[in-house]
Amino acid sequence: MSQTHRDKSGFETRAIHAGYEPDPMTGAVIPPIYATSTYKQDGVGGLRGGYEYSRSANPTRTALEGALAALEEGERGFAFASGLAAEDTILRALTKPGDHAVIPDDAYGGTFRLFDKVAKVWGLEHSPAAVSDVEAVRAAIRPGRTKLVWVETPTNPLLNIGDIEALAAVAHEAGALLVVDNTFASPYLQQPLTLGADVVVHSTTKYVGGHSDVVGGAVVVRDLAIADAIGFHQNAMGAVAGPFDSFLTHRGLKTLGVRMDRHCDNAEQVVAFLVDHPQVAEVIYPGLAAHPGHAVAARQMKRYGGIVSFRVTGGEEHALAVCERAEVFTLGESLGGVESLIEHPGRMTHASVAGTELEVPPDLIRLSVGIESIEDLIADLGHVLEPRR
Ligand SMILES: *Cc1c(COP(=O)(O)O)cnc(C)c1O
Repeated sequence: MSQTHRDKSGFETRAIHAGYEPDPMTGAVIPPIYATSTYKQDGVGGLRGGYEYSRSANPTRTALEGALAALEEGERGFAFASGLAAEDTILRALTKPGDHAVIPDDAYGGTFRLFDKVAKVWGLEHSPAAVSDVEAVRAAIRPGRTKLVWVETPTNPLLNIGDIEALAAVAHEAGALLVVDNTFASPYLQQPLTLGADVVVHSTTKYVGGHSDVVGGAVVVRDLAIADAIGFHQNAMGAVAGPFDSFLTHRGLKTLGVRMDRHCDNAEQVVAFLVDHPQVAEVIYPGLAAHPGHAVAARQMKRYGGIVSFRVTGGEEHALAVCERAEVFTLGESLGGVESLIEHPGRMTHASVAGTELEVPPDLIRLSVGIESIEDLIADLGHVLEPRR
């Protein structure tokens, strides 16, 4: 029942069927939540289906892992307790003290903190570089020491685009692996392994789960030696996705394609509305021809995603007022759920980089455009952008 990149059925078919066959005993169409820590053995070492202890493997998690591998066109998938647990497992599986990694100069805050405050203490050094600048990434590589080139695309919240194919070539020339955090695009819009990346990592908390009701992470790879290293560390470190969380994430995953199309439809309409609005100074969206990463995004992404960032004309005070007055857009962190969210990166998700070169503009607002009725989303934005009397 191995569902891998050899499964050539369509994306939505894989999303719904890969990783699980209806239960042979009951016919249950959906993987049961196997709330069990251990498994009866038929004689010593006589495991049924390889299950021995639920840190090592649990059937509910196995089903999710198979589906994730199939959607990313990988060979093996691994599900974790959070995106950061997945990232930590990659670092420990694929680097050792004295090694070096290149990371995005606008990396997700938690990723930066993991490299800067945790991995560094254990001897893994890192250098930031702009993912949109292949030559800057090449220049940041330390020959012989750089083991990982770590990329997000699109990045958060400025939606910079990295050319996965070109970055894979640069990493491989230096004997390093390319890791792509595919959280923002989701496997529906972009499959980094097909473009030469070695490792894909996700916060499944976002689009993959899609309903803002579960925290999780995933790693998908093609190379079996890398898979063995990740699998060994997943079990050895133990930050696995539990069966209840695996069930919820897998349930969300089945509708990823239809949700992403609606996220993209709505985001495109929101962008069209904002671009012409007199209170909006700049709209940042990779689907806009003027976006510096547009050509690369057009090549490697199916569509441009559900995240839209924009700057208002009235400075920080104006941006804060817009965020606070929104009603259909909920003021909150995170992204990728069915509900629309609005946030002020400077004071919220990116407050920790204030005063550094990673600081974001104070008049910037980030939207995670949900799948509500588009008329209501546009009306809400129109209302909050009106100058206050
Ligand atoms: C949220 C997020 C993470 C971290 O994932 P958690 O599930 O919160 O641990 C990593 N990368 C990106 C791009 C994210 O948005």
